[in-house]
Amino acid sequence: MKIAYLGLGSNLGDRERNIKTALASLADYDGLKFLRSSSVTETKPLGQKVQPDYLNCVAEIQTSLSADALLEVLGKIEKLSGRERTGQIWASRIIDIDILLFGSDVIKTVKLTVPHASMHLRSFVLAGLCELAPQAVHPLLGEKMHVLRDRLNGENFHIDPRLPQLVSVAGIIGAGKSTLAQGLADAFDFRLLKEAYDSNPFMRDVYAGKKEYALDSQLYFFLSRMEQLKSGNFKDNKIAVSDYIMNQELVYAGIWLDKIQFELYKKINSEMSRLAVEPTVVIYLKASAEECLKRIHLRNRPYEQGIDIKFLVQLCGEYEKLFAKFAACPVITVDADKCDFRQTGEVEKIGRQLNYYTDGLK
Ligand code: ATP
Ligand code: CA
Ligand code: CA
Repeated sequence: MKIAYLGLGSNLGDRERNIKTALASLADYDGLKFLRSSSVTETKPLGQKVQPDYLNCVAEIQTSLSADALLEVLGKIEKLSGRERTGQIWASRIIDIDILLFGSDVIKTVKLTVPHASMHLRSFVLAGLCELAPQAVHPLLGEKMHVLRDRLNGENFHIDPRLPQLVSVAGIIGAGKSTLAQGLADAFDFRLLKEAYDSNPFMRDVYAGKKEYALDSQLYFFLSRMEQLKSGNFKDNKIAVSDYIMNQELVYAGIWLDKIQFELYKKINSEMSRLAVEPTVVIYLKASAEECLKRIHLRNRPYEQGIDIKFLVQLCGEYEKLFAKFAACPVITVDADKCDFRQTGEVEKIGRQLNYYTDGLK
């Protein structure tokens, strides 16, 4: 006997009835027992398709069938409901029933991938799973459903393998971004995009309190990032990893610049940053100001030694605000106070998850 979770969706006809009918018809098959279902949510179609919105829910069942046999039964239920297969991906349908989890089994055959290959990218699936089994663990990612849900901020994503694959590491000064990015590049052969902090001719002055150089310094950083993130640089089909995210530029500019400078900077930033490659996934290194200050003193970059705890606390607050509403891609939050990214074990643990959030080595 296995506990399995099914994802149901409908966007044609009487959507609510279609889902109810499908759930009720599970009882018609031997070796299948319906246990519970989640509440029903309404979702926009994936991939910006022009089609009616979906109703989705998740069901918990108990079954003595094999996963293959279960998929066959679900196919029969779909067919009996009148679903026609057009051969098109994500076409409108009366009912769709996917196997999300089958116990803790990992299955990869021509017909069946379990856990469902996209469940960790879909809030409408994870929301239902969290109602029924928030403590259930994704057998490949090794994370609980509520952790996976929180990475998406309510959004649904799909990985487009035609787009450049960029992993961006974010976090305040001293959180360990460069060490992790370097480690990922080494361990997984990602292309490394490094922040140009040591070549910025203005930064030393800014950190020394000369605010008149703040705009120059911000523009220098911004342009060097734009050069790195031009789509033309991503033709090698490698996954790239950057030790920064573009969004941090506005955070720093907001702190360093006066009001008039900031308005000008924002205009330049919003016009130009549209041309930058967007991350496929972000790793947010969440670290405390105290721990980061210790690391800043340890690594001993001269111009950073004047940084005080108040500045770091302010940065922590700004990063928290940024990620509370970040909706551009999944965000994997890591407790960076507890991690030492000089250890290859820590880097590999994160890297294995990344392969699942990019078009990587699945
Ligand atoms: P998505 O899988 O992205 O939600 P979809 O449900 O619209 O897309 P379908 O056209 O319903 O895709 O199914 C395509 C094929 O996916 C099916 O023929 C089935 O063999 C295969 N498949 C692989 N893994 C699963 C799974 N876990 N559950 C259901 N079908 C799966
Ligand atoms: Ca589906
Ligand atoms: Ca399906």
